[in-house]
Amino acid sequence: HATKKTMADHLRKYESAFTLTPQRMRMIVEAFKETLEVGLDKPGQIVPMIPTFVFGWPTGEEKGEFLAVDLGGTNLRVCLVTVQGDGKFEITQSKYRLTEEQKQDDGQKLFDFCAECLKTFIDTSLAEHGGLHLAAGEKIPLGFTFSYPCSQDRIDHGVLIRWTKGFGAANTEGHDVAAMFRQSLEKYDVPVALEALINDTTGTLIASHYVNPKTKIAVIFGTGCNAAYMEHIKDIPKLRALGVDGGDMAINCEWGAFDSFEHEHLPRTKYDIIVDQTSNKPGEQAFEKLISGRYLGEILRLVICELIDEGVLFLGQNTYKLESPYVFETAFLSLMESDPTDELLMIIGIFSHFFAVETTLAERQFFRALAKLIGRRAARLSACGIAAIVSKMGYLEEGCLVGADGSLYNKYPGFADRVHEGLVDIFGDKGRNIITHHAEDGSGVGSAIIAAMTKRRK
Ligand code: ADP
Repeated sequence: HATKKTMADHLRKYESAFTLTPQRMRMIVEAFKETLEVGLDKPGQIVPMIPTFVFGWPTGEEKGEFLAVDLGGTNLRVCLVTVQGDGKFEITQSKYRLTEEQKQDDGQKLFDFCAECLKTFIDTSLAEHGGLHLAAGEKIPLGFTFSYPCSQDRIDHGVLIRWTKGFGAANTEGHDVAAMFRQSLEKYDVPVALEALINDTTGTLIASHYVNPKTKIAVIFGTGCNAAYMEHIKDIPKLRALGVDGGDMAINCEWGAFDSFEHEHLPRTKYDIIVDQTSNKPGEQAFEKLISGRYLGEILRLVICELIDEGVLFLGQNTYKLESPYVFETAFLSLMESDPTDELLMIIGIFSHFFAVETTLAERQFFRALAKLIGRRAARLSACGIAAIVSKMGYLEEGCLVGADGSLYNKYPGFADRVHEGLVDIFGDKGRNIITHHAEDGSGVGSAIIAAMTKRRK
C-alpha cells in the first residue's frame, strides 16, 4: 500500500518536464541560429526572415510631423508624432474599437474604416491642438503599422500572405494592403501620403534604437511572440536577385514559427502537444506556443485538468468551469506569482471567483510553483532566440540592448530577470552584456521615424 503523494511530490514530476538545462538551451540556440540563416538564404522558409526594406538605423536626427495608423489585434490606433531629433518626440493619439464583424467583413471596408477614423482624428483631436500645418495640396507622411505577415519588395507596398490573430476579412489575402488603404484614403480625401508599411517588431526596433542606439534587437511578447534585428544586406542571399547589396536592412524574423512541423529542437511536454493539436493551426507557430501570452494560461489549465482526472485535485467538487479551453488566462499566472500573502489569498480568489472551487494551501502553493515553471520556461526559451541573434551578429563582446514590449514582458513579474538569467546560462558571465528593457512605442513612434527615413531616401 503506497503512501498518498503530497502536492510537493506531484510538483517534482512537472519540474523535470518544464525545466530547461543550460546545456539544452545551448543546443536550441545552435539550431535557432541555423534556422535564421536558412530563412535569410531562401524565400518561403518556415521562419521566413522577412526583409522589411527599412535600410539601416535612423540617424537620430530625423525630424518632422508624421501620422501613424496601427491596425492591431483589438484596436485601431491613430497618432500624430512630432519627431524632434536627438532621440526626442511628442505624440498625440486616439484609439478606436474594432468590432468582430469588421475583422471578418470585406477588407476594403476595413480600410475605409481606418481612413474614416484617421479623418476624424485630423478634424477633431488635431484641430483642438491647433491642427496640421499644411500648405495647399500638401500631404502629411503616414506610417502604417500592419502586423500580419506581408511580403514586401519595397517599403510602401506589401502583399498580405495570410491573416493571423483572429482576422479574416475577405478579399485581402494576396492583395497589396498599402494600395487598398491608399484607395480608402483617397475616397475620404485624407491629406496624407502612405510612405511606409511596417510590422510592429520593426517599428519597435527602430524606435528603441532612435532613443538608445545600443538597442540592436526588438522582441514582442504579447498575444504572439516575434523579433526583429538589423542584418547586413550582403548576408541576406535571397535578396541578391533583387540587386540590392551593401548596407543594412531590418529583418522581421517571424520567429514564432521556429521548429514548426519538425518539432525536433524544442522540448514539448504532453500539454504543449495538446495545445498545438487543439489549436486552429496545428503544427504552426511551435516556438510561440511555448512562450506567448495566448498560451501560457492554457498550458497550466491542462496540467490542472490532468490532476483533476487523476483524482488528485478538487475531489467531490464541481470542476466544469475549469474544463473549457482557454478559460485560464495568462494574467492569472502573473497574479498567482505576485501574491504577497502567506495564505495566498489572491489564488484563493482566482479559483473561487472564476472557477467556483475551493483550494487548500498546499494546492495553492503547487499552483504558484507551476506558474513559475511555465513562466520561467517561456522566458528561458525567449533567451534562446535572443542568444541566437546575438551570437549570429557577434554582439556578445560589446554587449547590446534588446527593446522588449507586450503585456507578457511588461506585466509578468520577473519575466525580464528570467530572460537575463537564461542569457547567463547560455553565455556565462558575458551574457550580462545583453540587457532587455521596455521598448519605445513601435507602432507610433517607430513607424513615424521609418516614414521619416523613407522620405529622406527618396
Ligand atoms: P497584443 O500582442 O495583442 O498586441 P498585448 O501585448 O497586450 O497585446 O498582449 C496580450 C496578451 O498578453 C494576451 O495573450 C494576454 O493573455 C496576455 N496578458 C495580458 N495581461 C497579462 C498579464 N498581466 N500578465 C501576463 N500576460 C498578460
